[in-house]
Amino acid sequence: MDIIHLLPDSVANQIAAGEVVQRPASVIKELLENSIDAGATQVQIILRESGKELIQVIDNGKGMSPTDARMAFERHATSKITKAADLFALHTMGFRGEALASIVAVAELDVRTRRPEDESGVHLRMAGSRLVSQEATVCPVGTNIEVRNLFYNVPARRNFLKSNQTELSNVITEIQHVALAYPHVEFSFTHNDAPQFQWPGGTFKQRILQVFNKSLGQQLIPIGVDNELMKIEGFVGQPECARKKGALQYFFVNNRYMRHPYFNKAVAECFQGLIPEGSSPNFFINLSVDPATIDVNVHPTKTEIKFQNEAARWHILMATVREALGKFNAVPAIDFDQEDAPEIEPYDPSAPLPDEPKVNYNSDYNPFRKSSALTNWQTLYADFSAEKGESKPAVSSSASVGGGTLHSRLSSSLHSSSLVSRMNDSQESVAPEGVQTLSSKLATVFDDVPNYQEEAMPTDPKASMPTLDLQKSTYRKYLQVANAYIVASSKKGMLLIDQHQAHVAILYDRYIHQIQNRQGVTQQELFPEVLEIPMCDVPILEGILPQLRFLGFDLDNLGGGSFAVNGKPASLDKSIDIHESIRQMLEIAKEESNNLSQSLDSKLALKLSRMQAIPRGKVLSEEEMAQLVDTLYELPEHTYTPDGRVIVSQLSLEEIASHF
Ligand code: ADP
Ligand code: MG
Repeated sequence: MDIIHLLPDSVANQIAAGEVVQRPASVIKELLENSIDAGATQVQIILRESGKELIQVIDNGKGMSPTDARMAFERHATSKITKAADLFALHTMGFRGEALASIVAVAELDVRTRRPEDESGVHLRMAGSRLVSQEATVCPVGTNIEVRNLFYNVPARRNFLKSNQTELSNVITEIQHVALAYPHVEFSFTHNDAPQFQWPGGTFKQRILQVFNKSLGQQLIPIGVDNELMKIEGFVGQPECARKKGALQYFFVNNRYMRHPYFNKAVAECFQGLIPEGSSPNFFINLSVDPATIDVNVHPTKTEIKFQNEAARWHILMATVREALGKFNAVPAIDFDQEDAPEIEPYDPSAPLPDEPKVNYNSDYNPFRKSSALTNWQTLYADFSAEKGESKPAVSSSASVGGGTLHSRLSSSLHSSSLVSRMNDSQESVAPEGVQTLSSKLATVFDDVPNYQEEAMPTDPKASMPTLDLQKSTYRKYLQVANAYIVASSKKGMLLIDQHQAHVAILYDRYIHQIQNRQGVTQQELFPEVLEIPMCDVPILEGILPQLRFLGFDLDNLGGGSFAVNGKPASLDKSIDIHESIRQMLEIAKEESNNLSQSLDSKLALKLSRMQAIPRGKVLSEEEMAQLVDTLYELPEHTYTPDGRVIVSQLSLEEIASHF
């Protein structure tokens, strides 16, 4: 028996739909492109539940005849190309004739459409590739498509949809792409009956400002060139406005949004040396090329486009951006406007001289003098002097190795004045604590030193972690190495503490508690600043407003992508750019959109902690070190940061001894 048969159209369409329609945003992309291809100048987008319930696009384009409207939902039905050669002279966004067939395979759909020359329009009702009803209707010129219950017949796909905020953000991202490519078209967007934005048609620059924010206007440097190979128009952001995260980078080719890592590099290279490493410039660049020299016939959801003569175009792009940046730099960087100039009082020779700044210090202070370990150092030395033979059986083997070295060091130090002065003179010399690195036999010498008193072996599994005698911290001395690491001694050896990671852990502990206990400490701003973000990021930022509040950021959505920053974490250092820090949190939320909120909480808390923690390279006072270490050891976990970085590393007595 033959077993091969053709799949019914409805099944074949559903399979094909998987390629084109993955989420509400893909539906939006296809519908918007159709509206643009139909010559619309006004496009209205209406969504409910981030598109899961309803996606509606209403345009004032050329509409369809009743027969065309029916045909439009067949697979490979298109008015845009007729032969293969047309693929290389494309002037439309669509050409496959797949989109509507795919959408209708996985949703319920209503379309009302009318051409200008027709008296009445047609209303088609479809579900899962089947025509449910067709009737004449009264409707405006243009096309109005409602897509309901996306994936109603493919539950598995519906379950794969992400959170409402993420899906909404993806939808707005698609709208942005089309809106930036067609600035003369008006777009308006309503979600859950609330109008979100309306962008009247205008120039490319006006559209950029509508989509992103008004303040971007001052930073846009126009670029442009028109030669045989291609025409380049658009803007690059001023170098000062480069961003570490979330740089706005947009390429369009023949008014089609594209990603092009190679061209990205061309722009990035022009900014090299002008912007800090690790940050990226903003740019909005539209390339117009002969359609025959590009291949857009890649996968419908892919945004990469292949170019002929890519290398030559690369150089043109680079030269154009360079030139624009050069022109921009020719403008004086200093603004001589007197209005904001700081007031400097004229010099008055008769005025009393200001007091000289004074530094208070104790010239008698000697960090080693009071060290209780020192007495033992001397005791030890005395001991060693007494047992000069070195081969005494009572000394264990490792001790005798270490002891020997120690002994020779001590003898040599004897030659140079007193031990104390030698230790003060040379940082290299063995610190008193170092002595405890000898074997237990030798360590017993320190029995009377509070720090090193033996305790009963703890049964706690954490006992193997580097420990500190907190009760005795008053006796403790800390040493900062390379302004980055704190060295402290412990019963089992020497602790090396990374000051940055330690502070990260401390701050994290505080922030995560604030989120979990739903209480944050906010310092209200007298004059709230306004943060402007791209529209597509608004749903994501709204989604994390509660977490941000507990971290101490008090934000108010002003609409149109603007947020008032009413308060910031009370502990936040002034040097931290509040906008940048919120943007960084936003990026985390975008990356985490798939994961549990718990892990998002912890990532946000961690990000803020990392931004704020004392950096490596900061000089710490003895007191600051003590406080840092004491607080660190109050945490339930102090060996690793929440993201697994080592905070404390221990050099065991044996390891230390092995050096000698
Ligand atoms: P494609 O856009 O690749 O041609 P689609 O499935 O998206 O394929 O659309 C099929 C056809 O339906 C289009 O070629 C066009 O003729 C017609 N069409 C779709 N949307 C609209 C619209 N908004 N206005 C007018 N015609 C439309
Ligand atoms: Mg199309």
